[in-house]
Amino acid sequence: MKNDIYKTHLLLKNKKVSSLELVTEAVKNAKNSKCNTFISLTEETALIEAEKCDKEKIFNNPLMGIPYTLKDLFITEGVRTTAGSKILFNYNPPYDGYVSSALKKAGSILVGKVSCDEFGMGSTNENSAFGPVKNPLDLNKVPGGSSGGSSASILEGSSFFSMGTDTGGSARLPANFCGIVGFKPSYGRVSRFGQIAYASSLDQASPMGKSVLDIACVMEHLTSPDPKDATNAKLPPMKIVHDLLSLKSGSLKNKKIGFCPEFISACDKEVAASLNDALHLFRKNGASVVEVSLPSVKNCVPAYYVIATSEASSNLSRYDGIHFGFRKSHQGNLEDTYCESRTFGFGEEVKKRIMLGTFSLSSGYYDAYYIKACKVRRLIANDFNEAFKSCDVVFSPVCATSAFNLGAMNSDPMQMYMNDLYTIPVNLAGLPAIALPFGQSQGMPTGFQLIGQAFKDEDLLMIAGGFEQNFSR
Ligand code: GLN
Repeated sequence: MKNDIYKTHLLLKNKKVSSLELVTEAVKNAKNSKCNTFISLTEETALIEAEKCDKEKIFNNPLMGIPYTLKDLFITEGVRTTAGSKILFNYNPPYDGYVSSALKKAGSILVGKVSCDEFGMGSTNENSAFGPVKNPLDLNKVPGGSSGGSSASILEGSSFFSMGTDTGGSARLPANFCGIVGFKPSYGRVSRFGQIAYASSLDQASPMGKSVLDIACVMEHLTSPDPKDATNAKLPPMKIVHDLLSLKSGSLKNKKIGFCPEFISACDKEVAASLNDALHLFRKNGASVVEVSLPSVKNCVPAYYVIATSEASSNLSRYDGIHFGFRKSHQGNLEDTYCESRTFGFGEEVKKRIMLGTFSLSSGYYDAYYIKACKVRRLIANDFNEAFKSCDVVFSPVCATSAFNLGAMNSDPMQMYMNDLYTIPVNLAGLPAIALPFGQSQGMPTGFQLIGQAFKDEDLLMIAGGFEQNFSR
């Protein structure tokens, strides 16, 4: 899995490698995982599909025959889908969601379902009912979360790309902690049909890969209009791979990159140095770097944790021990069954958030918390709108530190929540953002994110691609 998707596609097309060879290697690496990456392996069907692909298919698109993994929040027909939770440990969905059916249609081959924080709630992948995932670059460190299994599977060579989800940074943070690329599209760009909901107004399916071009190859197959999701933007499918392949040097000339100096100075020394180096590289390649102001961003964490937990408390009410998944008690009355199934089925973090959300939505507190948080959300979106009057994209840290040790934040949940400071504003404002690896801190990868204007995902990817071209990793 050394090559990126497009180069591998050319090898497949010219019969220099077969899909079966790729999938066999991916499965072998998945089985040898030292990081507790997988919840379910789909070895048997993957090998059959690969063989079929080599025999019957023309490699007419870059995803055909390519092995990949899905965060276990994506519904897959006949393949166990747990959301990283005990409450769904035995749930076998009867249908494919949008993402898995679109990727099947493209001919890519699912190697397995990877671990994540339970229902996407977390920043380290330590909140999975299946045990924590480790960072393949250093087994004592977290891979980032909640899509930690996704980034681990790419580094371990069991997938060329992985689908994560991003509600408040869950694809960008693990990408940043593992030195890969993570892209959160504009809210509504990829259908959420069949994506297990955490916070519906923030959730977005988010591809992770080794390069901007990898992301583009995946996005072209994920952006068809979908009537099954009322919040889907229903725009025509993205066309971007060709443009990225024909990107000329000098593409960053005259691009305007906005940044907030105080975001950079608040980061660890080495992270800040990498951020400044990256800005220097933008300047060196003809972009202009301008200061912008995002004054409401400092209020994003409390607003996010009110909105996200409120939506979660409503979304997770469907897990009642009756309809599907885990049922604790067969005795007692209906209420006991609800109560015991949820008590034993949900993990601590999930229960904490259901209680927080139920509190914020309860009468008497609704105006003080939920409505107030929605107002803050509007202010943050306004800040970005203002900033985009003077720049094409906003440059920002993903996280103030690189990956930290497993367990390091266990005693301080507030510090863990504050970690999301730079990723959350993007979800609150519904914008697209891409995390790119650049430099190191404490011997681990670090990087930055570029934030684009709503539904200008293609423009954002072109600028990210322009940067990547000028900085050979
Ligand atoms: N860390 C954030 C949270 O726990 C973001 C999670 C996500 O994006 N799924 O809510």
